[in-house]
Amino acid sequence: MNELKLLDRLVSSLEKLPGVGKKTATRYAFHIVEKFSDEDVKNLIDALVHTKESVRHCQICHVLTDQNECEICQNPVRDHSQIMVVKDTKDVISIEKSRQYNGLYHVLGGLISPLDGIGPDDINLETLAKRAEDPSVKEIIIATSFTPAGETTALYIDKIVARPGLTVTKIGYGLPAGGDIEYADELTLRRALEARKKI
Ligand SMILES: [Zn+2]
Repeated sequence: MNELKLLDRLVSSLEKLPGVGKKTATRYAFHIVEKFSDEDVKNLIDALVHTKESVRHCQICHVLTDQNECEICQNPVRDHSQIMVVKDTKDVISIEKSRQYNGLYHVLGGLISPLDGIGPDDINLETLAKRAEDPSVKEIIIATSFTPAGETTALYIDKIVARPGLTVTKIGYGLPAGGDIEYADELTLRRALEARKKI
């Protein structure tokens, strides 16, 4: 049946999403085919194409943005002496939502994890080391998760950015061990920030 082959193609595309297995992908595919109006489908396609085309990484901090340099990096009101290092853009969104932080960010795009074949050169560490050389930067706040990969990455960062006049801190307790900041609430993030300690 040709129709089912068409559906297969949609299912395989949806299966590429994280956490979506064949069963869920099939359910989504049927839902789209049976329940979505032509306009719903058009909106979805437009959003996918437009977002994919216009979203890129900020040239300074690597956060996802639709500009060459993101609004946070360009904002003169923000504290440019602080750089918070996070794993990905989702963390930036969580911290921004909590309104507990007014400095800049640096998005690593991953964590050092030898077991998964991810080394220091595979994430955005070189640009971080370069930014940390600027004497106006006074503090690097590491906000990677409390997982082995997060800890390894934090220690590595401490080593590569070290210089007189620069303090390297790591956000403190409050976050569940192994927990991602992506899921932390406002109060938890504020406590974790307040409890940050020198590495
Ligand atoms: Zn930026």
